[in-house]
Formats: sequence, structure tokens, C-alpha cells
Amino acid sequence: DAYLNLSDLTLSYGRSVAVPNLNLSIAKGEFIALLGPSGCGKSTTMRAVAGLLQPTGGQIHLDGQDITRTPANKRGIGLVFQSYALFPHLTAAQNAAFGLSLQKLPAAEIRARTEAILAKVGLSGFEARKPAEMSGGQQQRLALARSLVMEPKVLLLDEPLSNLDAKLRLEMRSELQRVHRDTGVTMVFVTHDQTEALAMADRIVLMNDGRIEQIGTPSELYNRP
Ligand code: ADP
Ligand code: ADP
Repeated sequence: DAYLNLSDLTLSYGRSVAVPNLNLSIAKGEFIALLGPSGCGKSTTMRAVAGLLQPTGGQIHLDGQDITRTPANKRGIGLVFQSYALFPHLTAAQNAAFGLSLQKLPAAEIRARTEAILAKVGLSGFEARKPAEMSGGQQQRLALARSLVMEPKVLLLDEPLSNLDAKLRLEMRSELQRVHRDTGVTMVFVTHDQTEALAMADRIVLMNDGRIEQIGTPSELYNRP
């Protein structure tokens, strides 16, 4: 029951192969942690799934469709980076509404969906704030809202918590788990932090040097007798 399927995926920068022949199958609604040391190919893999890097080999299927050559904005995949890339001159509501406002939707629907998503990430009342007037954690929630409002099939989170201090990081862990429970969205969470992966994920994909070394639930990977 693969929902997101990477088959024989090869990812290169010029002539240098960063990820050779990767195979990975993710079920609908799973919370996956992609765990591994810096430089092992986590972001490269995420960029390919998001459509920001064209594979030099292999295919990507989502929900039964081959999306290998589908443009990034038509894949139904949301992306949240560690640098939030919020629009500084727009308010929180305008930032959250941004993707919807590019579509031909009734203004009332955009407004209602924006309000609902801001409430879901705990930002009701912050509609009129600019990003600079919000804390790091609030900006992170806003980046999450801006992706979720598009109702993506898969949400990719690339080291989303690494700019936050330790206390906020713990808070955002539970926040992300709550959002996952509430929305049921399939999530792939990139991290180099084993504790984070263990605390949050349904399954952990352990990468090293461009390859998948192990895949399993936290207990399968770390509680072996
Ligand atoms: P991770 O996200 O796990 O830290 P990356 O996917 O960023 O790893 O990097 C995987 C490999 O690809 C590394 O060897 C890195 O140096 C290389 N790489 C990443 N981005 C580029 C790029 N834009 N140009 C050339 N090489 C890159
Ligand atoms: P408008 O004045 O027509 O709302 P804005 O430029 O202020 O236009 O807003 C841009 C987008 O942000 C609109 O799609 C709007 O629905 C949304 N938006 C603005 N304010 C709010 C709010 N308080 N709650 C929810 N959505 C909002």
C-alpha cells in the first residue's frame, strides 16, 4: 500500500552522484523521519520529492501517479524549511493565505480556510502581525500553516526545528505530532537528531552516504535485544 514511492532514484549534482539507486515506500498518513548525518543526502532526496531537483534516474510515484516530471507546484507536496522563508512585508494572514490567493477561489473561502489553519497551529489572534513581530516558534507555526492550508498530500519538513532553542524544539515536537494526528497528512521529517526522530516518527529511515541503511519503527531500530 505504497502512497509515496521512490524507485531506483538516482540524484546527482553535475557528474557527482549524491544518492544512487534509492528505493523507499511510504504509506498514506505515515509520519516518517529521515535520519542521518550531515551530507548523507537527506535534503537532496527531499528536493527530488518536492520537484526542485530532477532525478538522473528512477521514478517517483504519489497516490498512484508518476510525478517524476510533474512541476513542483502541481505535485500536491508541501515543503517547510528551517529558514521559514515567510514574506516579511505580508501579515501572518496574508502569508498563510498566499498559496490559496494564487488560485481562483472565492474570497470568503480563502478567508475561512486561512482562519481555520491559523487556529489549527495556535495562531488565532496573530492575523495582523508581520513575521518580524512574531517569535521564532510562531514564525515556524506560520510556515507550517502556509503549507497546510494547501492541503498537501505529503508534507516535507526539512530540519524544521533546528533554528529553535531547546524548549521551543520540545514544544514544536508535540505541535507537529498534534498537527499530524489532526490532519492525517503524510509527513516526512528530515533530521540529524536521533532523539527527535525516536520521539516523533512512526518509522525511521536511516540514511548514510547516499544510501538507506535501515528502515523500521523506533523500537525495531533501537530496542533490539
Ligand atoms: P544532508 O541533507 O543529509 O545534509 P545533502 O542532501 O544536502 O545532505 O547533501 C548530499 C551530498 O550532496 C553531499 O555530499 C553534498 O555535499 C552534496 N550536495 C548537496 N547540495 C549540493 C549542490 N547544490 N551542489 C553540489 N553538491 C551538493
Ligand atoms: P483583504 O483586505 O481583501 O482581506 P488582504 O491583502 O488583507 O486582502 O489579505 C490577503 C489574503 O489574506 C486574503 O486572501 C484574505 O482572505 C487573507 N486574510 C487577511 N486577513 C485575514 C484574517 N484576519 N483572517 C483570515 N484571512 C485573512
